[in-house]
Amino acid sequence: MPHTVAVKCPSCGYCALFEFAEVVKIKLKKDIPHFQESDLFDYQIFKDSYGHRWHGAAFYAGLHGGDVSAIRDLPDGYTSEDWAHSKYLYRDHGWEMGSIRCSKCFFLRKHKLSWPQEAFFSLHYKQQQLWAFDRESGVALRDYIASSSRDVKDFKWRNFLLHVPSDFKPKKAREYVVKQLDRLLKGKAP
Ligand SMILES: [Zn+2]
Repeated sequence: MPHTVAVKCPSCGYCALFEFAEVVKIKLKKDIPHFQESDLFDYQIFKDSYGHRWHGAAFYAGLHGGDVSAIRDLPDGYTSEDWAHSKYLYRDHGWEMGSIRCSKCFFLRKHKLSWPQEAFFSLHYKQQQLWAFDRESGVALRDYIASSSRDVKDFKWRNFLLHVPSDFKPKKAREYVVKQLDRLLKGKAP
């Protein structure tokens, strides 16, 4: 998953932006009260795959203008950049907490993501769901489906396009799918 995805606004149904929260492991026990008392962080106990508990501080950049500049006065050994999204296109872990920001109705709240059920760029065909992460990958998806060569190597989103179910690719599906995607893409989106 990328760090942000387009979702249906829970309040108005318009296209809203979901942004993942980032969690940093709290290194020392004495640092815990700082994160517990901070208005910026959510303190939480996590369990790793071996069942070991660890203390984490989550920061919801989506509630603070989309970056980490609001983070100040950290205990020694931490920098605000620790809570920045990785530079990679896709995330490497499966935490589903983040926030939703809607530019139409100003909905702004923490949210647990259900993906792809909440995808805004989403359509159904033959009981299968086709979805895109956001507007940009939605455009890539439409162009890919519409193209006759279906060559993914020219696309930034090739790893995503490689997983398009084959039901969406036949010629008779193409017209319907492209039309539906066009309709979604015409709406203003983040
Ligand atoms: Zn809304």
